Amino acid sequence: MSGQEPGAHFTEELTIKYLTRIDQLKRLSQEERLSLEEVTRKFAFRTNEYYASLIEWDDPDDPIRKVVIPDIRELEEWGALDASSEKTYTVAPGVQHKYPQTALFLVVDVCGSFCRFCFRKRLFFNEIDETVRDYSQGIDYIRNHPGITNVLLTGGDPLILATSRLSSLIASLRSIEHVKIIRIGSKMVAFNPHRILNDPSLLEMIRTYSTSEKRIYLMAHFNHPREFTPQAIEALDRLRDAGAIIVNQTPIIRGINSDPDVLTELFRKLSFVGVAPYYVFQCRPTLGNRHFELPLEEAYEIFERAKVGCSGLAKRARFVMSHATGKIEVVGRTSEAVYFKYHQAAHPKDVGRFMVFRSNPSAFWFDDYEELIEDCRIAGNENEDLPSSPFGKNISEDSSVTG
Ligand code: SF4
Repeated sequence: MSGQEPGAHFTEELTIKYLTRIDQLKRLSQEERLSLEEVTRKFAFRTNEYYASLIEWDDPDDPIRKVVIPDIRELEEWGALDASSEKTYTVAPGVQHKYPQTALFLVVDVCGSFCRFCFRKRLFFNEIDETVRDYSQGIDYIRNHPGITNVLLTGGDPLILATSRLSSLIASLRSIEHVKIIRIGSKMVAFNPHRILNDPSLLEMIRTYSTSEKRIYLMAHFNHPREFTPQAIEALDRLRDAGAIIVNQTPIIRGINSDPDVLTELFRKLSFVGVAPYYVFQCRPTLGNRHFELPLEEAYEIFERAKVGCSGLAKRARFVMSHATGKIEVVGRTSEAVYFKYHQAAHPKDVGRFMVFRSNPSAFWFDDYEELIEDCRIAGNENEDLPSSPFGKNISEDSSVTG
């Protein structure tokens, strides 16, 4: 970028153009475009001029490039399209209900760009219908379930919706007394902060519906410190001024933020700009993602090493797997064993359940751990008569002790 601030040539007034065809990327060679078109026939491609301007095109290993530019290795047959069996938790059109307090509402199937490592890339296939345009049945489901205090709007990226449409959805949710927190899962601040900077009505909507007792949370998605451009930081400021609470979640992704120093910088920047690091995910074993994945124990080491250079505020994130049975936190390891704990669980009696498995350095996912050494549920749940282990392993009842 020859000394210029990345993205600096975009002013607030500028409308950012979306790019949906590889041949629009003139910085790629003809040969690259041809080979990558094959990838985009399988997995959709989308980015925009702003995010593309952050790429250092002369560096083939540029991490920002890896976020959005296809890679021929995506064609490798590895992983599952729905690695966390999300679809099995669908209870109404577009609504997943896995944890009692929280409903996921898949409200759109487009994003500000498409992350190549996306665990929901199935939604971008034309024939998949897990998202909805008519939200009425989903809203009815949430209204009829008073235990739901949190609704996560996701997809896709809800901020791709026109503000008028998003406002009416949020107004409907706000009319439900038991819905206290509305979360917007969005990478838009990183992908296209002009979506926020150019639209005062979006901020007005947040000001109206993020009240002092019922907040709107923005679940931001910064993967790399270079995504913190002046425009992105300004957009975060305006969202916060409007009353949104902002936290961040990111997977650890090979070649993007798998260097502990890069992850340290990401955590530090988040804390400096006032965004709480919330979850750091083990990449789900999703179709086409083999080249982004790290073995779980290696990723955990990177996570811990990254925290060494952080203040307490910068290291608030938990390292978790979004497993089909719940959010499983990796809490520690020795040379012999790995220690897991259910942070959230589809079966509420599993919340807090602590499990010690024999180390498996080549494991990518919880299902790859086979030798259970110890299994403890919290007091009162020890003798739960579960139909079977939620992850199909042979768990001895004798090993269950009060946590
Ligand atoms: S922003 Fe989220 S949903 Fe959209 S492509 Fe990236 S990871 Fe997937």
